[in-house]
Amino acid sequence: MFTSEHIESQLDKILLQVQKPGRYVGGELNIVVKDWDQVQTKVALVFPDIYDIGVSNVGLKILYDEINQREDALAERAYAPWTDMDALMREHGIPLYSLESKRPLSGFDLIGFSLPYETLYTNTLNILDLSGIPVRSADRGESHPIIIAGGHAATNPEPMHAFIDAFVIGEGEEVIHEILDVVQRRKTQNTSREETLLALAKIRGVYVPKYYHVEYMDDGTVANVTTLREEVANPVIKRIVAQLPLPPIKFIVPNIEVVHNRVSVEIMRGCTRGCRFCQAGMITRPVRERSVDEIVDAAEAAINATGFEELALLSLSSSDFTYVVELVNKVSKRFKGRKLTISLPSLRIESVSVDLMDKLREHYSGGFTLAPEAATERMRRIINKFIPDEDIINTTREIYRRGWTTIKLYFMIGHPSETLEDVQAIADLCKRVIHEAAKWRA
Ligand code: SF4
Repeated sequence: MFTSEHIESQLDKILLQVQKPGRYVGGELNIVVKDWDQVQTKVALVFPDIYDIGVSNVGLKILYDEINQREDALAERAYAPWTDMDALMREHGIPLYSLESKRPLSGFDLIGFSLPYETLYTNTLNILDLSGIPVRSADRGESHPIIIAGGHAATNPEPMHAFIDAFVIGEGEEVIHEILDVVQRRKTQNTSREETLLALAKIRGVYVPKYYHVEYMDDGTVANVTTLREEVANPVIKRIVAQLPLPPIKFIVPNIEVVHNRVSVEIMRGCTRGCRFCQAGMITRPVRERSVDEIVDAAEAAINATGFEELALLSLSSSDFTYVVELVNKVSKRFKGRKLTISLPSLRIESVSVDLMDKLREHYSGGFTLAPEAATERMRRIINKFIPDEDIINTTREIYRRGWTTIKLYFMIGHPSETLEDVQAIADLCKRVIHEAAKWRA
């Protein structure tokens, strides 16, 4: 087994040869480093994308806090190395390691992959390989960590069933503690890997593929699922937390420039709009909201704990947050005069949204993003996101009238049954928006 000293001495030889060595050294503000020998259960939380993208992921941060609040467990982090680092690590025989203690992932009891999107599947396999852990679940033995995965792209776990020991279906804040309790027993009572996996499979919301037989249709979709052990649930029911736990405050402050250098506070979870193309809208239901005071207090505490100059108030559909006007008023009052950029994404296309952004104007210098997604009435009805052209034009007019100059429009092409007319309509609508801009510039 590699020691942290060995890994650190090897890193000294290669770090100056890679782009952004800061991705691989840890030591950031607000990390938690516990005494390895004093803590029973060790968890590596892995975001299988590069550090620049993963370090600001809120889901991983929530689990990092949940686990590190326990005295009997520790959580450390790892990210996918960029290709230059991957090649050098393989050349020098360095396995993937955690940033906190520089210990190899294979030395942890539990490895938890966060899978927010499907394109991370292949990185997950590469990380297992780089860690010296058998890629296939069936090839792992008593000495290997238990590999779990969760996140939106684990909601349909079947594409990764051969590689992950246990999937968490749904939200992780509560179930992670039940999983830790089972993994603890593996250490305290010396339970076998098989006993541990079976105990995990009995937890509500946990899917352990080895206890299920899945039949597929010719097109690759699932035809039928049967259980191989009567003790395990079928179907596996998604975990939902009844009440959102307090938002994280001690965000990790990276030492290098990353994609999101900011505090993010989730204001609500879930969306009821039901746009047909939208996975997040379907799988994060039901809607749960935080109180305005909880959001504003958490934002202030997090800004004070990090020094970040940007605050993102996150949700899938901010306009649907019941207290959005009160929130914007309170946020603009609380942070008045502070050098802080505030973003409130995912607003509906309506002039009320422009009013809201106007109230945050002191803290917001960017442009507007609107997401009509489709430009013909036919296609809008198909995707169940109906916003008439006139509403879009009226909103853009309002934005330009108030002095903003940049509008970003999101459209999707490639919907089932789409015709060239539907695509042409996107260009035509964009031209109308540009025409509005020209009027207000004149
Ligand atoms: S409003 Fe946004 S989050 Fe909600 S279902 Fe539609 S696209 Fe998804």
